[in-house]
Amino acid sequence: MLSDSQHYFGRAADVLGLSPKIRAILLTPRRCVKVEIVVESDDGKLMHFIGYRVQHSDARGPYKGGLRYHPSMDEDHAAALASLMTWKTAVVDVPFGGAKGGIDCDPSEMSRFELERVTRAFIEQIEEVIGPNRDILAPDVNTNADVMAWIMDAYSSHYGFSPGVVTGKPLHLFGSVGREEATGRGVMYALDEALNDRGQSLAGTTIAIQGFGNVGSNAARLTAERGAKIVAVADHVGAVANEAGLDISALVDWAAKERTVAGFPGGEPFDGVKVITWPADVLIPAALEGAITDKNAADVKAGIVVEAANAPTTPEADAILKDAGVLVVPDILANAGGVNVSYFEWVQNVQRFRWELDRITAELEKSMRRAYASVRDITQERKIDLRTAAFVLAIQRVGRATLSRRGTHEEIDFD
Ligand code: NAD
Repeated sequence: MLSDSQHYFGRAADVLGLSPKIRAILLTPRRCVKVEIVVESDDGKLMHFIGYRVQHSDARGPYKGGLRYHPSMDEDHAAALASLMTWKTAVVDVPFGGAKGGIDCDPSEMSRFELERVTRAFIEQIEEVIGPNRDILAPDVNTNADVMAWIMDAYSSHYGFSPGVVTGKPLHLFGSVGREEATGRGVMYALDEALNDRGQSLAGTTIAIQGFGNVGSNAARLTAERGAKIVAVADHVGAVANEAGLDISALVDWAAKERTVAGFPGGEPFDGVKVITWPADVLIPAALEGAITDKNAADVKAGIVVEAANAPTTPEADAILKDAGVLVVPDILANAGGVNVSYFEWVQNVQRFRWELDRITAELEKSMRRAYASVRDITQERKIDLRTAAFVLAIQRVGRATLSRRGTHEEIDFD
């Protein structure tokens, strides 16, 4: 992961001709916090974990990023994900920086009470470096709205009522309407822009989707509502295909009940690994990192890949897709709808004013289409691919802000 995002950063830094010193300034996290968490388990034994918060950049606004609970969590992983957040918030021009954190615990082996104790102990250790104007946390792998509510409560007990310290909160606790579908909705707008560039539209376009969780199912629903045909869907249990287009609202109901798309009667089952190479106009990887690799990239049949997941394409696969003329809409652009609406949630918290859903949707659409247009302009000016262009735009924005704030007299050219 670390090397993938550094690889893409490096490619864009080459385009901009940045010196090693400026690259180091932009890549190095501003702060890495590592804390020990010791709490009692439900049966009175000591539990011991390490918690991390890597704050990569606050040049353009408070640090912003998720909190991941997973045994594999460590500083390197948090740092790689933190920098991706910096580039993502810059591409969609929300006034946030980038951060990521987590705890090396396994929530599947913990009770809800243990999870709450661990969360509150972690916040006690990092409360001085987070806050609505410092660093805003959000759900990530194995954390959810409940965890955000505990964090808001723990932080507010020291600093006063502070809903803006976290996003992704429950709706009844100052969360935002439209946040749940935001990433899938953003994916839909990004795909619409990519299709328009090729003189096509969503109507009649065939789509294969890997992953049918929050992002995959909402992307499927919203594109199908605009006439796209979702011809294949895979999740970690199984996969289902229908050449005439799957009935997505029936599939959403099925998956809600069965916790998988497997067994859905409205299509034919198939081996889920084949979804990446399924014959469709568009492929949306919306599950895992590293889904498209040098092993399967050459067999991708879609002309457009929209990276709904974070880092679904390895650099080797990216090169193969590029040579084959496949248009890849990169993650830092395609899945930025989530952090976009997280920003709207934070704005509502700070303003103490609720926005209606139609306002959220309209602002999200404007923001995603504007970001796509800015990235497209760079691809045309510099004759580079969308991913490199998205990194160029992000580096320019973060780089200029970073150096202006440091008050340097050295002339650095980001053009
Ligand atoms: P989720 O847990 O709701 O859904 C994940 C889906 O992927 C599930 O359907 C799961 O069955 C499927 N999956 C897992 N392993 C698979 C495999 N080997 N083959 C096929 N399917 C598999 O997660 P989500 O929130 O939908 O996130 C999906 C991706 O989007 C992740 O990469 C996440 O980092 C990224 N993302 C999410 C958001 C957001 O707002 N939720 C924002 C930005 C990026």
